[in-house]
Amino acid sequence: MRVLPTFGRHLRRRFGFRVCKIPLSIPAFTCPNIDGRYGRGGCSYCVNESFSPNLEKTASIVTLETQISALRKQYRSSAKRLRALGFKGFIAYFQSFSNTYAPVESLRALHDRALALKDCVGISVGTRADCIDDDMLNYLSDLNERTYLWVEIGAQSSHDSTLEAINRRESFDTVAKTIAKLKARDIRVCAHTIFGLPRETDEMIMQSIDRVAALNIDAIKIHPLYIVKNAAIAKKDLEPLTIERYLDLLINAIKRLPESVIYQRVSAGVDNDTLIAPKWCANKNRAMSLIRNRLLQEGIAY
Ligand code: SF4
Repeated sequence: MRVLPTFGRHLRRRFGFRVCKIPLSIPAFTCPNIDGRYGRGGCSYCVNESFSPNLEKTASIVTLETQISALRKQYRSSAKRLRALGFKGFIAYFQSFSNTYAPVESLRALHDRALALKDCVGISVGTRADCIDDDMLNYLSDLNERTYLWVEIGAQSSHDSTLEAINRRESFDTVAKTIAKLKARDIRVCAHTIFGLPRETDEMIMQSIDRVAALNIDAIKIHPLYIVKNAAIAKKDLEPLTIERYLDLLINAIKRLPESVIYQRVSAGVDNDTLIAPKWCANKNRAMSLIRNRLLQEGIAY
């Protein structure tokens, strides 16, 4: 039986106790593909509220103190619940929007406050590759010296035609170059990929897996394309990804990825009524159980 290096297993080995991520949404953070810097409207599947349970709508002018107080509030309420489940340490996961799309000094203040929170053992920053310039890279490098840091980069696909079709406003070349720069600084990188993007064949999806793997990533998140209300992609007439096809693709991807790659996620679920399709993503636990069982049949323990 092959036991996959899941993030939970990795963290337990690294810290000696159970650690999980607490997702955080910082008020007034945004994304250059939403605010007009690179594009408007965002990626066609993106509705941040659907995957960021803590996201609160706020006025566009928000002080750093307001952001810090929102961070504390979200962190404490999640930490209390998770401590009861046996987690002894937490990674502050800056999840919503693009979390390096802010002045370095603001990020430093937020990260310092996060690191001062009880049981916070590290930081994970989700962002776009084009939001990491040299100053940001220097800052992340410094942060990496001070704590257990992950930078999560949205790759989604290695095919520029797909990235264009989903209004990503970023090329795979940018993703590859940014990941190379992060790795040159010894910063842990987790790449995000989506299976089932419009017009992608199974071969194209596997090409993306191979290309992302070649970037020497430390971890990967794989999830099916899911369509939620108010996403631009909801207006298109798309064939939803079936669980059977997703499982075949996932198993194929696992067999191709280097054994050292850590799996931070292999599924997705939307635990609210915004999900349109695929319906099997409506229940995270059930989807995970289907995935686990199918992987076991292949001799893979997740
Ligand atoms: S880069 Fe991320 S936050 Fe920005 S529009 Fe795309 S999915 Fe949404």
